[in-house]
Amino acid sequence: MTLLKKISRRLASHLGCAWLPLKQGQGVVSFTFDDVPASACILGKQLLEEFDARGTFFVCGDLTDGQEQGHPCHSVEALQHLVEDGHEVGCHTFSHTNCATHSVKELKRDWEKNQDFFTKNTIANKGFAFPFGAYDLGSKLAASQRFAYNRITGGGTQTGRADLAALRAQSLYANKTSLDKIKKLIDKTAQQGGWLIFYSHEVDETPGPWGTTPAQLRYALAQAKISGCQILSVRDAILFFQR
Ligand SMILES: [Zn+2]
Repeated sequence: MTLLKKISRRLASHLGCAWLPLKQGQGVVSFTFDDVPASACILGKQLLEEFDARGTFFVCGDLTDGQEQGHPCHSVEALQHLVEDGHEVGCHTFSHTNCATHSVKELKRDWEKNQDFFTKNTIANKGFAFPFGAYDLGSKLAASQRFAYNRITGGGTQTGRADLAALRAQSLYANKTSLDKIKKLIDKTAQQGGWLIFYSHEVDETPGPWGTTPAQLRYALAQAKISGCQILSVRDAILFFQR
């Protein structure tokens, strides 16, 4: 990373913020899935709905009907079912583009391509998640102009306020995120009326390094319910906190 990029990345966490106060008393937990493997839109969707919850799925149009890390990706039909059943679909760039290493001009072209994919398949979308959680000041500002919110990776739960231009998120990875950590983060969110956004990829009995298992996802959903948090898509969580 060049020095200029390093400075831009550091500045990006302090500048161009769009603060959302988290002052409803009740905590919120959101479940998001990046790249959207087929298992996320089938098994992930099913588990969320068992808890009467809805999630957010960040799609790269270029991955549709493809494979990623040996896991089949979503179909257009599966994405349309998500929307029909009240889940949220968001943008994750068309080509899983690293936003910190591409010019704003290139990013805009990529976002347009993904929007063309959504428009062609009549899939509404307003939110965005940075691939790899990678962003700099230029891409944060450009994404904020285009999308209702941007989600990054890392940072755990957020309390007091959330930056809609860089919403923090916690990985939900079977081989990395312990049940104890999940419980602690959810308890803190509930106690402080905060907002915890999980992100994962496939939902599989034998996931890769960036996926979750049905058991881990079910545990997190159950803990969120037990703690008294609401479980909402990112879009609906924003509406909740804006009330
Ligand atoms: Zn991704």
